Amino acid sequence: MGKVGVGLAVGCAAAACVIAAAVVGRRVRRRRTWRRAVVVLEELEQGCAAAVGRLRQVVDAMAVEMHAGLASEGGSKLKMLLTFVDSLPHGSEKGTYYALDLGGTNFRVLRVQLGGNSSAILEHDVEQKPIPQDLMTSTSEDLFDFIASSLKEFVEKEGDRELSSVKRRELGFTFSFPVKQTSVSSGILIKWTKGFSIENLVGKDVSECLEQAISKRGLDMRVAALVNDTVGTLALGHYHDEDTVAAVIIGTGTNACYLERADAIIKSQGWLTTSGGMVVNMEWGNFWSAHMPRTSYDVDLDADSPNPNDQGFEKMISGMYLGDIVRRVILRMSQESDVFGPVSSKLSVPFILRTPFMAAMHEDDSPDLREVARILNDVLEIPDVPLKVRKLVVNVCDVVTRRAARLAAAGIVGILKKIGRDGSGGITSARIKTGSPSKIRRTVVAIEGGLYTSYSMFREYLNEAMAEILGEEVSPHVILKVTEDGSGIGAALLAASNSSPSVDSVQLL
Ligand code: ADP
Ligand code: MG
Repeated sequence: MGKVGVGLAVGCAAAACVIAAAVVGRRVRRRRTWRRAVVVLEELEQGCAAAVGRLRQVVDAMAVEMHAGLASEGGSKLKMLLTFVDSLPHGSEKGTYYALDLGGTNFRVLRVQLGGNSSAILEHDVEQKPIPQDLMTSTSEDLFDFIASSLKEFVEKEGDRELSSVKRRELGFTFSFPVKQTSVSSGILIKWTKGFSIENLVGKDVSECLEQAISKRGLDMRVAALVNDTVGTLALGHYHDEDTVAAVIIGTGTNACYLERADAIIKSQGWLTTSGGMVVNMEWGNFWSAHMPRTSYDVDLDADSPNPNDQGFEKMISGMYLGDIVRRVILRMSQESDVFGPVSSKLSVPFILRTPFMAAMHEDDSPDLREVARILNDVLEIPDVPLKVRKLVVNVCDVVTRRAARLAAAGIVGILKKIGRDGSGGITSARIKTGSPSKIRRTVVAIEGGLYTSYSMFREYLNEAMAEILGEEVSPHVILKVTEDGSGIGAALLAASNSSPSVDSVQLL
């Protein structure tokens, strides 16, 4: 080999070394950046850990806060609002009643026909409309004009049913925001939640505003019951199953209500009910306990929200927020590693990743996670995400949903604990007092809301956590029963039971 040949060979070897070093370097860098993404996931897992011991602390905290909220006005973050509903429908109600359901993404009008001598709802018609975005932050007049005109259109479709002879129609109004009730059919709006903000309605009587808008349209209709969606759900649950003692909604927002003994409502200062009980609207979205597993994503989400330090439980649990927690985690992963390529500007858009998208990614069962890739591409504008990174995204969704579902389960058991149905205190509290000592009392909780009904992983995790917390002896006796359209039909049922005095009162405990 001549000098030239040797030189060439050395040159080639050197070039090969440089290329090899570059490849190894890239691989190491890639591994490092992959590692950084994994660390973000691991930290999230640690931050969201909700083992059963911790959930039991949340259960206790919920029961304690319920006591405090019932003892005095402002005694707890839980408002524990009196609903003045002291009788729940049983099945003897008769006639045609209307309901309006306002409280989230959609607005619904219903007509319900009740048979009278059985639990059968003869017929019900529903019409649903999305609430125009601009009305959510407009004026009270604009909102109620929209509602009243939708109601009028709906009533006019009654046709020649027997109602044309009836002068005044009775309406159940489901208004799912915190209201201080002044009677079963009237109440004052305390504050808005779930993205609504119509300042001139805060402090006003909601039923009065609706009735004014209705009469402006020439419709003769009275609000016979003003309720919250949870109370409607409890009413429908109780109508079908008298063991129903509480209701929970997990949809855009989250809330719960339950039947309380009147004498346990200390702040009502001896206000008596014929039944000895009353439904209490907990407004549990605002529940807070230091035992809840909280991450920096939750802190940031809260700080960026229009209502910081408010609705802490809701922000960890409900459909409005879960997708946005996931978005924040993906953003952090993208900033700290290059597994998603360059950081997409869409990742900084609040609420762009809606919870149904998150659920679709979580539940993608295709082998190559095609749906995950599609949503990352279409919604977040992150193209060509490798399979192992898609798996990482699925894990993020899993961690966020699992924590939410487990916290919701702890909340439900907290209610059961407060009313002695959780089997604590040696099971005896959950047992029927008379007769066979071995028989544990059947307890039904009515449940509704898109997150629970449409997101099967959420549902599974919630049911699993309930069983874990309650233990195998008590858990088979606690039944979560999905009601359908309770927030609407239940309000019509309550309009019925509050316009016919013959209906029996609720029997408690
Ligand atoms: P609202 O709470 O607005 O009265 P719903 O009870 O129907 O209405 O709940 C709707 C919410 O449920 C949506 O905002 C969304 O967060 C959640 N949701 C609906 N469908 C799904 C789904 N397939 N997967 C996950 N979440 C869903
Ligand atoms: Mg609803």
